[in-house]
Amino acid sequence: MQKLRIALHCSELVPQPLLRWHHYRTPGSAAQVSGPFLRSDAAISGQYNEQVATYHVENFGCRATQADGAAIERQLRERGLERAGAASNAEVVVLNTCTVTASADQDARAAIRRIHRENPEARILVTGCYAQRAPAELSGLPGVSLVVGNSHKHDLADYASPLPGGFVPVGHIGGTPDSQVIVGDIFAHTELMAAPVFDSDSFQKTRPNLKVQDGCNNRCSFCIIPYVRGKSRSLKLEQVVREVDALVANGYREVVLSGINLGRWGRELSPRTNFAAMLRAILADTAVEKIRISSVEPTDWTNEVIELVASSPRIAKHAHVPMQSGSDKVLRGMHRKYRPWHYADRIARIRRAMPDASIGADVMVGFPGESDGDFEQTRALIERLPFTYLHVFTYSSRPGTPSAQIPEQVPVQVARERNRVLRELAAQKKREFMQSFVGREMQAITLTRFDGEFTEALTDNYLKLRLRGRHAANQWMRGAIQALDNNALIGR
Ligand code: SF4
Repeated sequence: MQKLRIALHCSELVPQPLLRWHHYRTPGSAAQVSGPFLRSDAAISGQYNEQVATYHVENFGCRATQADGAAIERQLRERGLERAGAASNAEVVVLNTCTVTASADQDARAAIRRIHRENPEARILVTGCYAQRAPAELSGLPGVSLVVGNSHKHDLADYASPLPGGFVPVGHIGGTPDSQVIVGDIFAHTELMAAPVFDSDSFQKTRPNLKVQDGCNNRCSFCIIPYVRGKSRSLKLEQVVREVDALVANGYREVVLSGINLGRWGRELSPRTNFAAMLRAILADTAVEKIRISSVEPTDWTNEVIELVASSPRIAKHAHVPMQSGSDKVLRGMHRKYRPWHYADRIARIRRAMPDASIGADVMVGFPGESDGDFEQTRALIERLPFTYLHVFTYSSRPGTPSAQIPEQVPVQVARERNRVLRELAAQKKREFMQSFVGREMQAITLTRFDGEFTEALTDNYLKLRLRGRHAANQWMRGAIQALDNNALIGR
């Protein structure tokens, strides 16, 4: 299929975060390129690149971004590039960014500055959610050669690969020495990048994370994600099964299923299907020993999903259910699709079906207009519900989101204090939950870390277990729990 791809010069961009770019154009000389590669026979100016041999990919943010980064790496390897040990000795450095908070943006900018300082010769390619949201902001930073939005991320390896017959440094397209920007309409984007993530930490060396869904059709008022990741789309069932099969064939025993709005898997496929059907198919058609489900919205924890998770020993007893707030008023302001009582009902049902399950939630404090009374409702609901851990976030205003327009922003000190209160409550609940397993036996998968005395492991219900002695990684073991020490169970 012929594709027209034209680089935008950064100064031509209007840096509106939610602007949809429907048209691509370039200033100066025609930078029209047919086909998926930037080839020397295109009517563009610039020098030929020498052999680009080494790359480094640095990922920021959520599991979905890690999975995108793994897919980029896979593509770069397929094109013959070699992985460099570090950004400081790579010829091409890909920064796969996150933009979910202002501090995520800051981290990305700091990384660009660091890499450019340590390795001024490197061509820095910036992609990911920040690149989609504010490409001009990034392309203006020293050292950045190219900014590729999520809309074109699936082709990113083409811009970094050496090609037989010539290759044009993208930084020179259009005859200018400045960086280039390739960003399109994210809502027209239908690609789903997916590659299992193995190597970002010791957990994932033994428990690969497989992204099966991307994008989101919801519009939570604080969330930038739909505008940078686009519509909800799902990996086809046959591909899901194939990827899981490949992981099993490579010796992996637990696979973590992830997505931006995982519970919506299958809704846009034809014929329409759903998350429970995917779980059933994985159980029936693959030999995977354990599936772990990452975050699923409360409305998608249907009775069917709860019963399936509870009844299968091959699905980890772990439910991560974003809550955000316990105040009806705040949930409405956030445009969340459930009310506190619906949420409480789902959690109670999960607990009844799985008495030992780990149950966690994302909670946000400091949403605009959150009063002391609203916060108290959140605190009280958390106290009442059987959570075993929480991820507590402080609201971060994202330019272009509806909530950024709400005038009653909560003072930073107040939001920080609310965050502290919830973290303390969560820590207490976690301790009590963990303590309840002392004296019992638990199943856990061994991870790679050994500290000289203990091997780290993760229980079926998501608790850190330190098993006495050295054990090979990636083994299911039964441990007798002896104590709770410093946020980990001790067992043998
Ligand atoms: S469900 Fe809401 S918070 Fe989650 S990605 Fe979609 S819009 Fe964002």
